[in-house]
Amino acid sequence: MEHIEQYLAKSKRLADLKIVDQQSIFDYSDAKFAEEYDANYGFYQKNLENAYDKYLIEPASVFYRSSFSINAYAEKSNENYVICFHMGLMHYLFETFLEKLDCSKGVCELNYEEEVELLDNPLEIIMYQVCVHFTFYHEMGHLVQKSDSLKSKLYESLSGEGNFNIERHILELDADEFSARFICNHMFLYGDRVFNEDYSDKRIEFMLVYVCSSILIYMLSFGGRNLPLYYKERTHPHPVIRVMSFITMTVIYVVDVLKQRGIELNTEPKSIVDKALIFTNIVTENLYEEDPIEKFIHEKDEHQAEIVAYILELKALRENRNDLALSKYDQTVKN
Ligand SMILES: [Zn+2]
Repeated sequence: MEHIEQYLAKSKRLADLKIVDQQSIFDYSDAKFAEEYDANYGFYQKNLENAYDKYLIEPASVFYRSSFSINAYAEKSNENYVICFHMGLMHYLFETFLEKLDCSKGVCELNYEEEVELLDNPLEIIMYQVCVHFTFYHEMGHLVQKSDSLKSKLYESLSGEGNFNIERHILELDADEFSARFICNHMFLYGDRVFNEDYSDKRIEFMLVYVCSSILIYMLSFGGRNLPLYYKERTHPHPVIRVMSFITMTVIYVVDVLKQRGIELNTEPKSIVDKALIFTNIVTENLYEEDPIEKFIHEKDEHQAEIVAYILELKALRENRNDLALSKYDQTVKN
């Protein structure tokens, strides 16, 4: 484990600065999946350090909190930026994607055998990485926003318990979209390597299906999915709204990147979304006691117009604001 010493030293520093409790530092050296904790720490800590100059978030640390609850937060405290993953969240992701998930039936049903053959890792591992990326870049989005709420911990209660505040809903969808950009960039880096930059419609569809399916499984795994659909309530938008917004902006962004590369996509975005739902439905067959995907499809079809209207309302409120993470991202890309 290459990074454990650096991790423990940096976490101790956070405790000395009274940013975290000494007892809450999760020492993963003997944990199940210790190597995964270590590899993730190394990757994301370096990522944060690379972002210091671009986003003025120095110094920033990744921290694992020794808590069983499935959660994560971003915080600025004592002039330090922190992204915290609860041990419970990491463990949940490891178990779900690395031990329980089996994509073979879905791959077979949608005829992705040729694409999967070219990957250098099992698809389940790649989908797991999409989910950890999603959490990390979403939290990084909160650091980049530097909103007032960052001074108290910005928790990701996926059930969104707490009072409604439209600004918070704006910040959440902004952090999701910031995260979607990075996930797509990673997706293309990976695709460039395994597909040798040779993108057929089928390969693009496959990549979008596994990315969207990962986020669907991730978001629908937690408490909020059982709540009836709501709009202006709670701290976070309803998971169904977040998934819909994530999928839409991911597809739009990917089409845009392809255009810049001179590649035209001849598949209808709607058919990609439908395939992502079919794929998710098949691969999660043995994952949940009840079936959140069926419920998601039902909510989405039944309330499509209201969901889209609410996403557009939040999008309109984000327009022309240069303090949000996405506008800062766009700025760094332009420069
Ligand atoms: Zn958030």
